Amino acid sequence: MTKNFELEKTEFLREFSNQYGYNGKIDKIRENEYPQLKGITYLDHSGSTTYPKSVFTSFTKDLTNNLYGNPHSRNPSAQNTSQRVDQVRAKILKHFNAKPDEYQVIFTQNATAAIKLVGEIFPWNIGKSSYRYLRESHNSLIGLRNFAKESNSPDIQVVTEDDLNTLFTYENNVGNDDDNNDNNDDDVIYNLFAYPAQCNFSGERFPLSWISQIKKFNTEKSKFLVLLDSAAYSSTSLLSLIDKDNSPDFVVLSFYKIFGFPTGLGALIIKSELNSILKKRYFGGGTLDAIAYDKIWQEFKKDLSLRYEDGTINFLDIIALGHSFNAMEEIYTDFKFITNHVTSLIRFLYIKMKSYQHWNGKSVCIIHSNNDFSNNKIQGPVFNFIARRADGSLVGYAELEKLASVNGIHIGAGPLCNPGCMDKWVNLSGDEIVKNFKAGKLCGDDNDIFNGKPTGTIRISLGAMTTIEDILIWLDFFKTYFVETINVANNVEATNNIRTTEIINNNSDITLERLILYPIKSCHGFTIPSSISWPITNKGLLYDREWMLISIETGRALSQKLYPKMTLIHPKVIREKELLIITAPGKEPLQIHLNEYPNEFESLTCSSQVCGDNVEAFVYISEHVTQWFTEFLGVNCRLARQSSTKSSLNNHNNNNNNNGNNRFIKPDLLNSESNLPLSLSNESPFLLISQKSVDHVNQKILEYNSGDTNNNENGRYNINDINNVNNGNNNNCKTEEMKNEENKNNFTSSYENWENLKIVEDCFRANLVINGNIQEYEEDKWKMVKIRGQTFKIISPCKRCQMVCINTETCKKTKEPYSTLAKYRRVKGKIYFGQHMIHLPELSSLPYEISSNYKVELLD
Ligand SMILES: *Cc1c(COP(=O)(O)O)cnc(C)c1O
Repeated sequence: MTKNFELEKTEFLREFSNQYGYNGKIDKIRENEYPQLKGITYLDHSGSTTYPKSVFTSFTKDLTNNLYGNPHSRNPSAQNTSQRVDQVRAKILKHFNAKPDEYQVIFTQNATAAIKLVGEIFPWNIGKSSYRYLRESHNSLIGLRNFAKESNSPDIQVVTEDDLNTLFTYENNVGNDDDNNDNNDDDVIYNLFAYPAQCNFSGERFPLSWISQIKKFNTEKSKFLVLLDSAAYSSTSLLSLIDKDNSPDFVVLSFYKIFGFPTGLGALIIKSELNSILKKRYFGGGTLDAIAYDKIWQEFKKDLSLRYEDGTINFLDIIALGHSFNAMEEIYTDFKFITNHVTSLIRFLYIKMKSYQHWNGKSVCIIHSNNDFSNNKIQGPVFNFIARRADGSLVGYAELEKLASVNGIHIGAGPLCNPGCMDKWVNLSGDEIVKNFKAGKLCGDDNDIFNGKPTGTIRISLGAMTTIEDILIWLDFFKTYFVETINVANNVEATNNIRTTEIINNNSDITLERLILYPIKSCHGFTIPSSISWPITNKGLLYDREWMLISIETGRALSQKLYPKMTLIHPKVIREKELLIITAPGKEPLQIHLNEYPNEFESLTCSSQVCGDNVEAFVYISEHVTQWFTEFLGVNCRLARQSSTKSSLNNHNNNNNNNGNNRFIKPDLLNSESNLPLSLSNESPFLLISQKSVDHVNQKILEYNSGDTNNNENGRYNINDINNVNNGNNNNCKTEEMKNEENKNNFTSSYENWENLKIVEDCFRANLVINGNIQEYEEDKWKMVKIRGQTFKIISPCKRCQMVCINTETCKKTKEPYSTLAKYRRVKGKIYFGQHMIHLPELSSLPYEISSNYKVELLD
C-alpha cells in the first residue's frame, strides 16, 4: 500500500475497528481464501459475490471419496445423494431460522425461477385475485404480473412505500369482506403481494413488519399471501422466519449471491401449510406417485419439495452448497460478523463519496439513497449513484464503467433490472422508457445518456471479503478521474479535439515519417519502406485491411480486443513479387499470392460482421492456411479476403460498382461526404497521428504515474499483487486466455514498473505518422493536408477504445494509454486521439500514390 492509503486506512480504523475485519483476520482470509481477487478491485457483489478457495478442496475430496447417483433411483449411491440433499435442506432452514415443520425448501435454478414457480403454483382465482408489487422490485417480480393477467386479475398494481401506508387500510383493502360480498361460492380469494427485502438497485431495505400489517386485513374469504424476494438481502444478512405468522409465505433467493459458488442454484422457501391450496400444473420426473400414460390421471407426491421439483435436481451443486455453508462458517464464524463488516465499509464509502466537491463547490455524486448508511436495518452494503461534472452535466454510466474496468475495478452499471428504481431515483418514467425504446434505445447498449437523462446508474456493492483497501482504491480512482479540483474546462476545450479556425503555421517543417499498412484486420502493421510509393484507392492504402480472420464458430471477424495475440502476426506485402507474406513467432512464414483470389481456385462466400456491418468475403479453404492461423491463435479461424477489392484500384469515379462491398463511412464522421466505401478498417480510409502527440502522451503517462512511485518501484497499488498478476492472470498471450471471450475486459490495475507503461505509436494503428517542428495536437486543427501531390481532407478526430491498451510487441493489456488519455483528452465522455481522413482525388495528381519521407503541407 502507498503511504497515502495508510493514512486513510488509519482514519477508517479509528472509527470502525470494532465492526471491521473479523477481529483482524480479514487480510489473512483474503490472502488465503480468495487468490482470484489478487490485483483486482471487485465491487460488484450484488452481481455475484465470489467463492472461497477451501470450498473446492472439501468439495473435490467429497466427490472423489463418495459416489453420488441420481436421487430418484434407490441404489446405495442414490441414497447417498438423498441423504446429503436432505442435510443441505436442513442447513438452509437453519440458516433462515425456520422450523422444519413450518417451512420447506424447493430447489430451483435461481431466484427468478423460484419467483416463476410461485406464479405457476399460486392459487389465482380467475377474475378475482389481485397482484401488487413494490415499485423497487427487480423485474423478476414484475414478471409475475403476466400470471395475474392471465387469470384476469382485476387488480394489478405497483405500489410505493407511501401507497402502502394508505392502501392497506380497511377502507381501501381489496381483501375487505364488504368488497367481496358477491363472492358467493366458498372459494377463498388469494391475493399476492411481492417485495424485495433489499432493493438490488440501491441497497435500500424494506421492513418485514409489512407482512403482519398486510395480513391484518386477511379475512375468511380473502387473503393476501406475501412473497419476499431475499436474493439481495441474504447475501450479507440473516433473515429469520422463526415467527411464522408474521413471516413471508414465500421466500426466494439465489445461492451464488451468498456464497459465490455454486451457481445455477436457488430456492423457494415456502410455508408448509400452503400445500393444500397450491396448484400443481406442469409435472415431470420424480414429482409423481402414480401416472397413467393413456388417460389424464396422475397423483402427485404429497411432500411439498418433492411435489414441485420437476425432473432431477441439481444434486451435485446441492452437495457443493453444503460445502459452501461449512466453508463460510469456518471462515467467518457467524453471519452477523459479515453484516457488521460490510456496514462499516459502506458507511465509510458513503461519507467519502458524499464529501467530494468540484472546484466550484458543487458536489460530485448524486446519491440514490435517503439513508446515511449507518443503519443496516434500512440500508444494505450497496452504494448507487451518478457522477456529475463541475459544469453540472452528468457522467454516463458506460464512460465511468469503462474507465474503472481499465483500472482493474469491477463495478455494476446500467438500469440494473430495476425500472421502478430508475423512475424513483432518476425520474425515468415508464412512458419515457417506451418512448426511448421506440427511438432505438435498447437495454444494455452503450447509450448511457438518452434524451438528456441517464439510462442507468453506477452501483458499488460489497461482500464479506471486501477490504478497506478495495474501498480506498475505488476512492482514489474516483477522485482522480471525476473530481475536478481546478477549472480546466477552457483549457480542455482548446487543446482537445475541438477544431478551431486558428491560423496554421504553414512554415513549419512537417514530414510524413511513416506510412503503415494493415493488410490483415487487427494484425500487426507493415511499415512501407520510404523507397516505395504506394497506391491509394478509394478505400485507403492499397491492400489496407483487405484480409481478415473469421471465427469458424461464430462467423465473426476476429478482433484484437478479444484476441490480443493477433498483434504478433506480421503481414507484409511485397508488390513486385505479388506476395502477402505472413510471419509470427515460432511459425514458418506463410505466403499468399496477391493476385490469386480464393474464388479463383476453391472458395466460398460468406457474410461476416465487421464493426456491426455485414461484409462479403471470400474464405481461403486451404487446410494449410487455416491451420497456420488456428494453431497460432488457438482459436478456430480462417483467412478471408474482402470480395470487392479487385476493381477498387484508382476507381474513384466508380463508387457504385462496388461488388458487394457495403461498408461506408459512418455519416457522423462526415459533414457532406457520404457513401464513401470502406475496407475493413474501422471507421475511415486513412488515420493520421502525430509523433509529437504520442510523445506528449508518454510524458503525461510518466507524470501521472511517477508521483506514486517514489517509495514504490512497482507502481501505485499493492506491490505483492503485481508479480502474481504478471505471472498469471495478465498473460494475455496464453492460448486459454484467447479462447475466453468473456475475458475481454479483464484489465488489471497493476504493472511491473512505470518505465513499462511507455507506449509506442503503433498502438494507435495509424496509416500516416507525421513528425516535425510542431506542437502536440496541432493536427486537431488541420483541415486539409497535401503530401507528395496527394490531398487529404481531415474529417473528424478518432474516438478511442480500450484496444489502444494492447502492447503491440508483447500483446499484453495494460491500462495505458487509455487511462492517461482519459485524464486530458476526454470530452463529454469520449476520448480522442488522431484524425480520420479521406483522399480527395480531384485535388490530387495522378498516379494516386504516396510515400514516406515527404513534406506535409497544410491547406485551408
Ligand atoms: C439478483 C436478484 C434477483 C435475480 O436473481 P437471479 O439469480 O438472476 O435469478 C432478483 N431479485 C433481487 C432483489 C436480486 O438481487
